[in-house]
Amino acid sequence: MEKIAIFPGSFDPITCGHKSIILRAIPLFDKIIVAIGKNALKSTYFDLDTRKKMIEATFADHKTVVIQSYTGLTIDFCKQVNAQFLLRGLRTSADFEFERSIGQINKQMNPDVETVFLLTQPEHTALNSSIVRDILRHKGNVDQFVPKEILPFLK
Ligand code: ADP
Repeated sequence: MEKIAIFPGSFDPITCGHKSIILRAIPLFDKIIVAIGKNALKSTYFDLDTRKKMIEATFADHKTVVIQSYTGLTIDFCKQVNAQFLLRGLRTSADFEFERSIGQINKQMNPDVETVFLLTQPEHTALNSSIVRDILRHKGNVDQFVPKEILPFLK
């Protein structure tokens, strides 16, 4: 059976932290669906289409990485796309506590889906999309924090 994982997030924008987790997961799965969660109540810095294009550009050379958007519960989306794995990155103990409760509840809701965690590379521990957005808002330089493939979208 094809091993399918989803990697959910808002990717507003994708960072080097996200990219690194996905690259390291490529050998583990036949297909990775980068799943952009749509939340009608939350406004984003980049619109959905731009976020999708930035991720596509980042993984243009990786055929097993595909991008989809979804609404509703992530665990329900797993079923819709036949994903048996939910991939998450862990940065800190705060991430762990947050992920532990979601992961355990998800397992109760759908025992067929396993949450798989990869520890972040030390250099990405402090990195998140919200910091990147703050730097962008203040016209700072984010080149070292985001995949080089998305730089054209930021000009
Ligand atoms: P978003 O800001 O895109 O909503 P999340 O914080 O929900 O992102 O992240 C989506 C996934 O990417 C989560 O599993 C999160 O742990 C992981 N992630 C985000 N930033 C990093 C990072 N710097 N290093 C490793 N994993 C990360």
